[in-house]
Amino acid sequence: MIPRARFGGGNTVNKRELKHFEKRLIEERAQLLKERGYIEDKIFNESQRDAPGDLSAYSVHMADQASDAQEREKAYHMASAEGRLLYHIDEALGRIKEGIYGKCDGCGKKIQKPRLEVVPHARLCIECKKAEENGTAQQS
Ligand SMILES: [Zn+2]
Repeated sequence: MIPRARFGGGNTVNKRELKHFEKRLIEERAQLLKERGYIEDKIFNESQRDAPGDLSAYSVHMADQASDAQEREKAYHMASAEGRLLYHIDEALGRIKEGIYGKCDGCGKKIQKPRLEVVPHARLCIECKKAEENGTAQQS
């Protein structure tokens, strides 16, 4: 058995961990899309975009079409629970690209790594998440 990768100390998500979470998100996304029953090749296209070669003209053209399709896709996805999950995964992937992945949307602190292991697309730290849940489900 391969021992689980040991994450470095501290609370910051390092580059290696970022890759790890990115991979998890992409896998989760692919799984979701597979379950939804249609083929998603956007990730493939995106990885191709960085590659040198004569694919560039094709990729740029595809990117133009994609932005429009993405908007419609987003609206469609938001209409269902797994669609919203997909949206959150996309958001998380976007945060990875922006370099702000792992930062809590509520308090701005780092989201605890064990939480990210369970919910890689987590947007809030556990404290803020609890506060949010308490806000919607009031205990008297
Ligand atoms: Zn927080």
